[in-house]
Amino acid sequence: MNATILRAVLPAAFALLLADRPPLAPNPLAPDEGQWLPQQIRAMNWAALEARGMQLTRDEFWHPERGGVLSAAVQIGGCTASFVSADGLVVTNHHCGFGAVNALSSTEHNYLRDGFVAATPAAELPAPGMVVLVVRRIEDVTAKVHAAQAEATSDLDRWQRTQEVIRQLVAEGEKEPDTTCSVASFYEGREYHLYYRTRLTDVRLVYAPPRAIGEYGGEVDNWEWPRHTGDFTFFRAYAAPDGSPRAHSSDNVPFRPEHWLKVSADGVQDDDLVLILGYPGTTERYLTSVAVADREGVFYPLRLDLLTRVLAVLERQANRSEQDQLDYASLIKSLANVQKNAAGMVWGLARNAVVARKQREEAEFRQWLAASPDRMARYGSVLDELLAADREASRTTRKDLVLGLALSSRINPFLRGICDLVAATADNRDGRGSGNLRRRFGSDALTRDLQAVQQPLLAILLDEVRRLDGDDAFAGRTALRPETDEPTAQVVAELLQSPLTTAAGRISLLESGPDGLAASADPLVKLALGLNAERDAMVDRSRNAEGRSVVLARAWIEAQQEWRGTSFYPDANSTLRVSIASVKGYEPRDGVRYTPHTTVAGLLAKHTGTEPFDAPAALRTAAESRRASRYFDPRVGDVPVCFLTDGDTTGGNSGSPVVNGKGELVGLNFDRVFENVSGDYGWSPDRSRNVSVDVRFVLWCLESVLPAHHLLREMGVWRDAPVPGAKRAPAGAR
Ligand code: GLU
Repeated sequence: MNATILRAVLPAAFALLLADRPPLAPNPLAPDEGQWLPQQIRAMNWAALEARGMQLTRDEFWHPERGGVLSAAVQIGGCTASFVSADGLVVTNHHCGFGAVNALSSTEHNYLRDGFVAATPAAELPAPGMVVLVVRRIEDVTAKVHAAQAEATSDLDRWQRTQEVIRQLVAEGEKEPDTTCSVASFYEGREYHLYYRTRLTDVRLVYAPPRAIGEYGGEVDNWEWPRHTGDFTFFRAYAAPDGSPRAHSSDNVPFRPEHWLKVSADGVQDDDLVLILGYPGTTERYLTSVAVADREGVFYPLRLDLLTRVLAVLERQANRSEQDQLDYASLIKSLANVQKNAAGMVWGLARNAVVARKQREEAEFRQWLAASPDRMARYGSVLDELLAADREASRTTRKDLVLGLALSSRINPFLRGICDLVAATADNRDGRGSGNLRRRFGSDALTRDLQAVQQPLLAILLDEVRRLDGDDAFAGRTALRPETDEPTAQVVAELLQSPLTTAAGRISLLESGPDGLAASADPLVKLALGLNAERDAMVDRSRNAEGRSVVLARAWIEAQQEWRGTSFYPDANSTLRVSIASVKGYEPRDGVRYTPHTTVAGLLAKHTGTEPFDAPAALRTAAESRRASRYFDPRVGDVPVCFLTDGDTTGGNSGSPVVNGKGELVGLNFDRVFENVSGDYGWSPDRSRNVSVDVRFVLWCLESVLPAHHLLREMGVWRDAPVPGAKRAPAGAR
């Protein structure tokens, strides 16, 4: 084990805690809070883990130089996936591959609706936008980053120096062949780690179930239990014949990973140990009461309200035709997911009284400080400074949220395009404009569904821009005539009379350069100038805040750690983590107990024949003979569909392999329960539950519903099943 890494990564208090534990004291009911770094897992009390069912050694699980079971967990888009064969087969969630399946679908070949099976490797389809990142090595670069930060003269300067040293570290690391590097910050900048990764861009779709399986229950069941969603899809990563990463090419061959997971058909039972491996995106466990109150009172309610109205417009359009449905499916799905998440946050933060708990803790912290002059000297002002910074940040919460949505190129491609056009015109001193700019601003993609979709969306979002006043007032809002009582929809309709709605008008503005821009009387140009100024100010605010946070928030983390004297794990930041968990039900309300397994019988009981509960005929037919299936589990009396565990997961853990104590794949994490949406602000043994699809349901689909027997054979689950041959790269090549 690399002792330097371990020393640097292990917080002192955590190391102490481990040392205090009797070496052989099993703790099967240990709370499963924590998204642990690979190095931290190695330092855990292995005997206690073994007593819970761990059968791997530390080195088999993960070794800093050689990797291990954990190395089979890879990143794909914002999600997690895992290698499940020696030939680069990866499995992730259907919702993680949704955008790619959507993009590959047409009204002739609607893979989203009908599912997709590549019968041979040649039939696998290049999947747009899918990139697989495999972690090879992690290096502690804290000392180098801290040395650069120590020279800083201001918050902004500290932010800039941090960016610069990270840029250098990445450039240096990428001198290693076939390597993509990135640096991540932990504990608000107390540590920095450099990741060496293999980046595979030739990723092909292998198998997707029909949406009516992969998304069964839709938004009604999203973030809920009991759940019956077959949220899985298979891809395959390809590389050059020598194993090096290479863009799509017809003579690429399946990538040969160093580590892949064995798939287990043995299933899981209540209280079984499982490990959830993956790349959780963002948690905010160490926030102040002021920051949480702002999330609860302003941010999530506004996000919920705006997205609810935006979605109504998009759904109206999508319901017009199959083509519109395909055009808007991905956008609707991702916004609806965020919308329901916001609803869960509003509900959960209030129900769990998180602000009151934080306030109590802050009062206790103050008492702890007051009891010692030494602590006062070191941390006396930290909390007050942080509360003041959070109060300051909350002044622009509404504005930042509205600006983010109004300028989202996925929601408002036109307004975003015009703002970028105005910025490019201001820089276009010679009046020419590059081919790229001309292509982008001349494109009709900007005005797609302008009247039917973008105009009503703009009316919703620009109404906020128009109405916010006082501290929140937007630059450029006079272009929206806020002093009048005209409906915003009408103001927007007039704004869209602008010549900038035509390609010729946009190119002519670009060519007019800074002088033309200054002379323009077009209210749309005035609005865009204002929004651009706001966007620049928002970027400045966030850089300053980041530069400050690596001093202030870092001290807060250190102070809390000393005060709590307990194990600490860093907030999620899309780096490789492990959550230790047990299969477990829960009590959502007084008098109600949820068991941790769902079954095909439960899936069929929800079937109405209408979306989102329209189980495909093939599934219903296969279900008739499922008692004879080898995936039938007598303990649950059925083929299982999903199960619950008390893991510590968040967005980004979608697709995470859930492995048993032998390191074998037993499920794919895909969601949390409604009571645990606000778990991003704190883990709780009573309500922190994550939802996984049972791998036996996946195998049953591959065997009996939408058959792909060759994949069962490739994964070693059904060795006698036929499989077409595939070209192979040398073993162990990256
Ligand atoms: N289902 C979640 C999402 O799509 C991912 C997992 C989680 O947040 O627990 O965002």
